[in-house]
Amino acid sequence: AKPHVVVIGGGYGGAAAARYVRIWSGGDIDVTLVEPNPTFISCPLSNLVLGGSRQIADLTRGYDGLTGRHGVQLVRDSATGIDVAKRTVVLSSGSMLVYDRLILAPGIEFLFNELPGMPANGEILHAWKAGAQTVALRAQLEAMPDGGVYALAVPPAPYRCPPGPYERACQVAHYFSRHKPRSKVLLLDANEDVVSKGPLFKRIWKERYGGIIEYRPGFRTVDIDAPTRTAISELGEKVTADVLNVIPPHRAGAIAAKTGLANANARWCEVDFVTFESTQAANVHVIGDAIQTAPLMPKSAHMANQHAKVCAAAVVDLLSGRAPFAAPVLTNTCYSYVSDQDVIHVASVHAYDAAKKTLLVVPGSGGLSKDASALEGTYAQSWAANIWADTLG
Ligand code: FAD
Repeated sequence: AKPHVVVIGGGYGGAAAARYVRIWSGGDIDVTLVEPNPTFISCPLSNLVLGGSRQIADLTRGYDGLTGRHGVQLVRDSATGIDVAKRTVVLSSGSMLVYDRLILAPGIEFLFNELPGMPANGEILHAWKAGAQTVALRAQLEAMPDGGVYALAVPPAPYRCPPGPYERACQVAHYFSRHKPRSKVLLLDANEDVVSKGPLFKRIWKERYGGIIEYRPGFRTVDIDAPTRTAISELGEKVTADVLNVIPPHRAGAIAAKTGLANANARWCEVDFVTFESTQAANVHVIGDAIQTAPLMPKSAHMANQHAKVCAAAVVDLLSGRAPFAAPVLTNTCYSYVSDQDVIHVASVHAYDAAKKTLLVVPGSGGLSKDASALEGTYAQSWAANIWADTLG
């Protein structure tokens, strides 16, 4: 029988890993992908749904390229347990999969217990996993009267998509500037400064959205009063909004914590950056937002795609009796829409350092936009089209 790779999670990391194990093994490795959702919905570009220039359908794709063209077996289910000694995965339906190598890409789990008043039922929205909550948040913004306040609570880093909350502030401000000019965007940031593209975002807020966006650093939201839509800070400050959007602190997807694979501060999964194999369990690889990242490595879709490729190549090598390539180099580019057209980017290159056993930013690599432009808007659209094709085939 052919070797069997099981992939848990069909998001940016897992879907790309499944595809590349099939391609690079020339079909000699069977791949089963476990994913509960019927479709793939992209978080990148989902802030544009809030701004009103995209619909969620524009960001939704099927898995038929993976199953048809690439011969990935798709199981629509959730993994509920992993037995690393027996190399088995148990699914919520009760059935079991046996693997030679497991790739775990479950994304993130929100820590609602760190915000006691925040109900997990969506009464206060995070919209930090694209889908129904994104659409619901857009509806709240549309229903809000002119002169209202939208407040966004940003969790302490590390969190998924460092520039994402600041892009979201731009998108909502752009919408308000056109349709509700007396309204405000209040950014309640648990961090002491803008986590990504800081000076650029702050300049753009001043130039384009002065009087609309107000930035409050060091506002660490520790509780919510849901009925009054109030965020409460560590210092007891209270901010009440017409639309309250709270991104709870997060950690690796629930299955990682449950199986003891989230071994860094009980939050993230530590890996060997040559193979992305867990430092906790042999034959289990972890990729995407769930990992304990290397220095200055963002939790991004672009990075999850890069993890997927390094991991897929290593898994194919290991299952073919070859040593994995020992010097991986990864890249990242994050585009942020500051209006419906204009975009800024930040880019970096991360190379494996054998002495330090981690990925380090290559000195002099990467860069940052000087200003927002519509030309970069076309690059951002191409980035999305390319990564969707690269992920889903
Ligand atoms: P995900 O893409 O979340 O995939 C995880 C998958 O695992 C999900 O499909 C889930 O259903 C599945 N899963 C979870 N548990 C189980 C289980 N037990 N069994 C089976 N399946 C399971 N990144 C960029 O590079 N560029 C951007 O412009 C950008 N913009 C963003 C904007 C927003 C608003 C947000 C929220 C994020 C943005 N990101 C961006 C970040 C990007 O979305 C994430 O970094 C990326 O999705 C991580 O990929 P992943 O595979 O780790 O997780």
